[in-house]
Amino acid sequence: MARVHEVLIIGSGFGGSIAAARLAEAGVDVAILERGPWRDTLPVQSMGIPNRIRYPAGLQLATRGFKRINGRLLPRGGLTLSRYGLFESFSAGDVSVLCASGVGGGSHVYTALNDRPRVSGYWDGHHPDVSNDVLEPHYERVMAEMGGRPPRLEDAIPNLTASRYRGHDWLQGGDGGRQPAHAVQYPEIPGTSREIDWGEGIRRREADWKDGGLLGSRFGTKTTLDFAFLAPAMRRGLRVLDLHEAISVHRCRQTNLARYSVQAKNLYTGQVEAFYADHVMLAAGTMNTLRLLLVSRDEARGLDGLPALGRRFGTNGDHLAWWGMDDAEADFSRGLPCHGPVALRHGGREDDPFMVEVGLIGVDAFPMPDRLRRRLRRGVMLVAMGADLADGRVSLRRGRLHVRYTRDAQPVYARTEALFREIAAQSGKPVRMRRRPFTVHPLGGAVLGPSDAESVVDGRGEVHGYPGLFIVDAAALPAAPGGPPSMTIAAWSSFVASRFLEDRT
Ligand SMILES: Cc1cc2nc3c(=O)[nH]c(=O)nc-3n(C[C@H](O)[C@H](O)[C@H](O)COP(=O)(O)OP(=O)(O)OC[C@H]3O[C@@H](n4cnc5c(N)ncnc54)[C@H](O)[C@@H]3O)c2cc1C
Repeated sequence: MARVHEVLIIGSGFGGSIAAARLAEAGVDVAILERGPWRDTLPVQSMGIPNRIRYPAGLQLATRGFKRINGRLLPRGGLTLSRYGLFESFSAGDVSVLCASGVGGGSHVYTALNDRPRVSGYWDGHHPDVSNDVLEPHYERVMAEMGGRPPRLEDAIPNLTASRYRGHDWLQGGDGGRQPAHAVQYPEIPGTSREIDWGEGIRRREADWKDGGLLGSRFGTKTTLDFAFLAPAMRRGLRVLDLHEAISVHRCRQTNLARYSVQAKNLYTGQVEAFYADHVMLAAGTMNTLRLLLVSRDEARGLDGLPALGRRFGTNGDHLAWWGMDDAEADFSRGLPCHGPVALRHGGREDDPFMVEVGLIGVDAFPMPDRLRRRLRRGVMLVAMGADLADGRVSLRRGRLHVRYTRDAQPVYARTEALFREIAAQSGKPVRMRRRPFTVHPLGGAVLGPSDAESVVDGRGEVHGYPGLFIVDAAALPAAPGGPPSMTIAAWSSFVASRFLEDRT
């Protein structure tokens, strides 16, 4: 029996979960195909989900750390390590990318910074139907649903930059502007960590400043999308098919069952199955959404045209460095998943990148000698984000994603490196940076715009020339937000879903 849904969503990260929640709330028949598993966390246990997979820890990181590694010298489809793997890496072409796999997508591994775009007027001027004013109510709603807020000094959070750099000579714990929200459950009484009911039976713990880092949040101290958005949507009828990996999307020409079919591998059984829907929303994350579209057009012949597909890909100006402070008194592996913004107190510029300090929360789960672990506790990652030109190009070469991107043509990298050097010089401690662009915020490649000559989706998020096919994840973003992008993706997805619902009535 063919499965036919009104809406089929591929991927359950910030794009997929938010659209699913909006559609389920309106009573739409909607299902999600998600290639990763449910994660075994306290909130997911309380949802009554039977098949849960633990976050990888210790030696398991070698076998379950990665779902897949994609690189130039590896097989076409990449090297698949485990269907339960938490991360996927891409290193073909000029950029390396890291993204996540699992029900809830990037929310498991992200550092929980919830922010609006740092670039002012971000949504203006890309399409006549889309603007900052139109998107604003969607930011407000998704940020309220995530339940985060900026940290306060009285929260007594270890290593918070706002506390550490108060009165500091040359650094400040912020960029002089607003502090972003952190989507964690702050303890009601600082210094304690109680288990609480988050509503409708969802159990989670208040932050203990040890849970919630890059390897996931076992106790739900960090807000993840599985319990924040999918749990309520499932109560309203959403079907989540975990361990189902979409392979290609086809416009149906030979059946009037539905407008689209999606070929997907059921990773429980290993079988390829067909799903049908009148509406398909792509939300597999930038790299996998681009891969799905390129494979569907260039290999599976399920789609055609799309002349702007792969163009205007960007890295959000991401730049990463390790600041080896080697402070014997310090333990930066405790605190918020991100310790907060950091900026020069004097000599900063208007166009400076947004920079944050990230400690290795959960470092105990990494298999390594104690000496190395101690060193890692005494330093932080500096993660900078800024508006790059988003002029990269992604294509499919012999079955592999290939990214062309000219790093040296992007002013944001030179400025970030100058800041890293200044921090090293002033502190007298090494700041080690990567030369090759590495991003955890890939975006674009199937961007918003008025016509198919320079864009892939229109002002309703629908692919030009493909009624019923939508892109609701970071691949549709028209430019770099220059800061943490998850709320921009969530707001876009919420906006597309609301337009869809308006047209449906
Ligand atoms: C280490 C790290 C830290 C980060 N910190 C922050 C932060 O603090 N703040 C912030 O705003 N952003 C942060 N980000 C970025 C943020 O996580 C991403 O921008 C966001 O998750 C992208 O949302 P998305 O919906 O586009 O894709 P994702 O959230 O990546 O979701 C895509 C989903 O689709 C699934 N999928 C992929 N291919 C298929 C397929 N073929 N079939 C079925 N399912 C598929 C994946 O398993 C995944 O669950 C961070 C990212 C990383 C990696």
